[in-house]
Amino acid sequence: MKYIFITGGVCSSLGKGVAAASIACLLENSGLKVTLQKIDPYLNIDPGTMSPYQHGEVYVTDDGAETDLDLGNYERFTKNAKFSKVNSVTTGQIYDTVIKRERKGGYLGKTVQIIPHITDEIKSRIKAASMDYDIQIVEIGGTVGDIESVPFLEAIRQFSRDVGRENVLYIHLTLIPYLGAAKESKTKPTQHSVKELMQIGISPDILMCRSADLMTDEMRDKLALFCNVEKEAVFSAIDIDTTIYEIPLLYERQGMSKIIERKLGLKPQTPNLSSWKKQIEKYTSAKKECTIAVAGKYIALQDAYKSIYEALIHGGIDNKCKVNVVKIDTEQVTNQNVSSIFKNVDGILVPGGFGERGFDGKITTARYARENGIPYFGICLGLHVMAVEIARNVLGYTDANTTEIDPQSAYPVISLLEEQRKITKMGGTMRLGAYKAKLLSGTKIYQAYKSKEISERHRHRYEFSNDYKKDYEDNGVIFSAINIENDLIEAMELKDHPWFVAVQYHPEFKSKPTAPAPLFAAFIKASMQA
Ligand code: GLN
Repeated sequence: MKYIFITGGVCSSLGKGVAAASIACLLENSGLKVTLQKIDPYLNIDPGTMSPYQHGEVYVTDDGAETDLDLGNYERFTKNAKFSKVNSVTTGQIYDTVIKRERKGGYLGKTVQIIPHITDEIKSRIKAASMDYDIQIVEIGGTVGDIESVPFLEAIRQFSRDVGRENVLYIHLTLIPYLGAAKESKTKPTQHSVKELMQIGISPDILMCRSADLMTDEMRDKLALFCNVEKEAVFSAIDIDTTIYEIPLLYERQGMSKIIERKLGLKPQTPNLSSWKKQIEKYTSAKKECTIAVAGKYIALQDAYKSIYEALIHGGIDNKCKVNVVKIDTEQVTNQNVSSIFKNVDGILVPGGFGERGFDGKITTARYARENGIPYFGICLGLHVMAVEIARNVLGYTDANTTEIDPQSAYPVISLLEEQRKITKMGGTMRLGAYKAKLLSGTKIYQAYKSKEISERHRHRYEFSNDYKKDYEDNGVIFSAINIENDLIEAMELKDHPWFVAVQYHPEFKSKPTAPAPLFAAFIKASMQA
């Protein structure tokens, strides 16, 4: 078993997750069994209780773990790795385990300390994710120099003593800023960041430097000298203006897999990237275009709907079509401006969400899509929006609502799941993870999946109330996917509309450039015809 640890320096948001995922893509296509793990240095047990303003999207795995959005990058860039709770570790989980163990008497007679007890727990969590893989890539969240990261850096330093230095590779990702006034790119912050890492006892094997342009030979020489790495191990991670899926190709052009294999003593192999390249080219050379409005309340945040934006690109790949996304803040949508806001879009997607803010604008948006034959794709809260809009404007229940917004509604077409009513704790208690659904043949959703049974991931508390089913069916709504075991509605669609489909689950989480989510592919196709 080999381990690659990825740390970050200089500043945050350098794209460690995509870098880790891209390396995994290269190694997997070289025939190795690769997995990835994210370690986040915050005290929350998981990001499930954080606002998107704090954290961006909460990603969900099949086993219902609420994780960092980098797990989404890991899944999108790999084919075979299976991700679950063990792949997402936080400081909160580590301390929780150690403190509970202490209370049980697990450390009787001892003083419980960061070294070795916290670091031992970190190391055992890393090993717990190794299973049947050849290589495990572990991304340490945060930036070297942060107080929070210190126990993790200490643990990964010890790790190479435990498993042998020859089985461990340290990759450090940093920033090379460009100073406009001096017309020069600067390596000094990287030198300082590596120095910081060395003080902890970690000497990086590979440097990856985010920069606007490829680094000159001179800069690489300088970094190699000052940071004590081989020149061949200094990589330019330049900004990409097409799609992030080009990044593995960018690294490979600079010899990434070769150097990793050499340093880890693995058999040299050229990654077979032909099918990856083929998918990406469908997008980069696409002649057709379509414009999709994502209508939500977190549109100002780049990462809040991360998997949705990626899945739209995958849908574009499937249709050889470039997807232009326009982000609409539904707090601003009114009956007066709705037609001008959505005048030039080919399709409208209402993503998941929580709470009242922007909900009325989403209802107005859904009505506009329904009445004007514009393809509509509702996800999770987007299904609640569809249900409430139809109840109010078609069925005539003018005060219909979801009880998430109005607990006193006389027509609670969306209400709490029975199992949710008794829940008092907020963390990790939604309906989470993969559930199976049966699809009704002859429907749009069936056309998309071409399968009678599917499994998709969930993250919600509220659901469609079956008491109202007949009313909807009498008015042109088809309940096209059902969870048979619990008789829960998983999808609704309109009979007489080009494409109006809403799902209770999150199809975006399982979408990959190499395997676009069927509903995203179908939605883009319908939007192209709109
Ligand atoms: N707020 C809704 C619920 O809890 C929808 C959740 C979501 O869109 N992920 O059911």
